[in-house]
Amino acid sequence: GWPGCECNTCFAGPDCSLRTPNCTADADSGNPLFLEPYWRRHAAAGAVVFSGWHRLSYVIADGRRFQSVELERQIRRLHRAVGNAAADDKHIVFAAGSIQLINALVYALSPDNNAASPPARVVAKAPYYPSYKLQTVMFDGREYRWAGTTARWANASRTNSTDGGGFIEFVTSPNNPDAQLCKPVLAGSAAAIFDHAYYWPHFTHIPAPADEDVMMFTMSKPSGHAGSRFGWALIRDDAVAARALEYVSVSIMGASRDTQLRMLGIVKAMLANLHGEDDIFAFGHDVMRTRWRRLNAVVARSRRISLQKMAPEYCTYFKRIREPSPAYAWVKCEREEDEDCYEALLQAKIITRTGVGNEVSSRYTRISLLKSDDDFDVLMDRVTDLVNAENYDE
Ligand code: PMP
Repeated sequence: GWPGCECNTCFAGPDCSLRTPNCTADADSGNPLFLEPYWRRHAAAGAVVFSGWHRLSYVIADGRRFQSVELERQIRRLHRAVGNAAADDKHIVFAAGSIQLINALVYALSPDNNAASPPARVVAKAPYYPSYKLQTVMFDGREYRWAGTTARWANASRTNSTDGGGFIEFVTSPNNPDAQLCKPVLAGSAAAIFDHAYYWPHFTHIPAPADEDVMMFTMSKPSGHAGSRFGWALIRDDAVAARALEYVSVSIMGASRDTQLRMLGIVKAMLANLHGEDDIFAFGHDVMRTRWRRLNAVVARSRRISLQKMAPEYCTYFKRIREPSPAYAWVKCEREEDEDCYEALLQAKIITRTGVGNEVSSRYTRISLLKSDDDFDVLMDRVTDLVNAENYDE
């Protein structure tokens, strides 16, 4: 760790290797620390060192650009090699994490300021990733506003309604929190923004390359470099891409050049090992499916909590049927009295993220499976305690 770093609360000792008995498991955030052992093994290949005089400039190479052409090329190579997106016929727009793209893309797809048209209505199907609402509500104004979940609009009359503008639907596939592959609910008249943060072989089978008009990706989940804050959009239409690029230029003058340099090294290291002895996706899938299997084995004994159902599916990347390996467990509390599932699990010393934030009932809550091995072990202990205690009662 860094000087001054403290152990996480479940561990103590000079190297944080001593378990604190009975401590609370924190399964809240989607921090992708499961990939840390991979990068420890590839420490040299993943390292990027640059001198103090390097990259002082606002611009890159040719004097106008904020984006590295070489990084764009490597990202296209990665999509091609993984087979998870058709990137060659799309523009690429870099941003500070894909979280910045939420508003950049809503802005890019909304009617422009001078238009007489009513504001676009931004929607998502529940359970959805809460940032879509949080960010849209923060910035909404003349061009767009948050209009709730798709359930409200998913009938024929919406096309005839005169009280609002066109729809912009966020489609998260696989979904956060419940890991399902999703299609737009408001087909036809709606513009869709596909959030493919988890559309990588660690977390899902890849049936075919995604080829939608507007897609967002992040490096946080495939490589685990969430702290570098790097995301990118793939956009088919020239004008929409220009508006998204304008957004990132006006707000931050383009993604950090230091981050772009680091990402270049990381993507190259990922590519160099693809289908080799230490393929990052083979490693990631192995970790995630083992966690899912272990959690399921315990929860299968429970009548108090249940998880989303997931089946093995054929994956074009691994060229075989693969076991499920979701980033999150979507927990439902089954007992009448456990109406607030988050609270019920907190009583059992497990911190989760309540389904209320995803605009579904408090009967649901999300467990992150993305954290470190230590975090997962503590989580398994607490879940096992919970399920064992339940059998005791009967
Ligand atoms: N989209 C989804 C569905 C996510 O789960 C996350 C992170 N939890 C993000 C976008 C944002 O990721 P980042 O800003 O790190 O790229």
